[in-house]
Amino acid sequence: MRQLNLINAFFNMTVKNTVPETPLIRPPSEWRSILIRITRGCKWNRCRFCGIYPHLGEPNFTSRSVADVKHDIDLLKQLRPNAETAFFGDADPLMVGIDAFIEITEYVRKVFALRRLTCYARVSTLWKLKKESIKVLARAGLDRVHIGLESGDAKTLRFHRKGQSPEMVRETTDWLKEAGIEISFYVLLGLGGRDHWQRHIHQTAQLINETEPDFVRLRRLWLYQNENPYSAPGSPLLKEIRIGSFTPQIPEGCVLELRMLIEELNNLSTFVTCDHKNNYVQVSGFLHENRDDMLATVDSFLALPKSMRDAHYLAVGSQI
Ligand code: SF4
Repeated sequence: MRQLNLINAFFNMTVKNTVPETPLIRPPSEWRSILIRITRGCKWNRCRFCGIYPHLGEPNFTSRSVADVKHDIDLLKQLRPNAETAFFGDADPLMVGIDAFIEITEYVRKVFALRRLTCYARVSTLWKLKKESIKVLARAGLDRVHIGLESGDAKTLRFHRKGQSPEMVRETTDWLKEAGIEISFYVLLGLGGRDHWQRHIHQTAQLINETEPDFVRLRRLWLYQNENPYSAPGSPLLKEIRIGSFTPQIPEGCVLELRMLIEELNNLSTFVTCDHKNNYVQVSGFLHENRDDMLATVDSFLALPKSMRDAHYLAVGSQI
């Protein structure tokens, strides 16, 4: 009997991390935050333009236990006792389940004196939670969600298998605003390809005008490559390009998309920023204060001689 108890004790014993697990990616604006990994990978994992988690070696989705995440929070307290902001990853940490998410949120709020707590969140996940649960998240201490809007165009979203519609975005942003949770949208220039870029940008501007998020963060579509059979998997969109169902945007087209987007946005209180170095032209500012300056920055780039613009596209093209 004693031997059996010892065996049980051995199997029940949990080997604890000595260093906290870190989300594979984080928003640039969270560079000073403590990074807390609640889930691994992306449960949806279907967006054609993406493939980031399989490419980075995390092809499957798993949830971590509340106990393990709390243990990581304790470790982070030893490493960064005065941290003021925190971020939850990976792609959609609410998939851990609302009860577990709230328990972790309340725990990190108890351990750290945070002024901001944010996470990545898919629109469809928030939409399934509905208004009341989103209010519960806010009460537990979630301040901001980083949402991959990508496009406001229904056809573009459907083609890329994003799993969300403009209607879902509208409804979800209403609930988030009502709950007092800030909204940070990510928009991908180039997502409509060369054939549908105007529709992609026009519909995106329209949806942003309707929803007035706190932030719009712009990036250029970037595809993970799989150069040979032994390299990490590439973006699913590569196959569509090969068979001709998607034609990538040209570099100057991305700059024209940026210009059209800024021009079509209203004088909102939204902060727009190109906070990723893969953008060909970087602009940042509040739409209601800095829209003309942002347009002037794009226009002065477009006024450069073609040889200079092309050299710039080549130089930026290799960065991510
Ligand atoms: S874009 Fe986001 S939701 Fe879509 S597969 Fe990539 S990580 Fe998952």
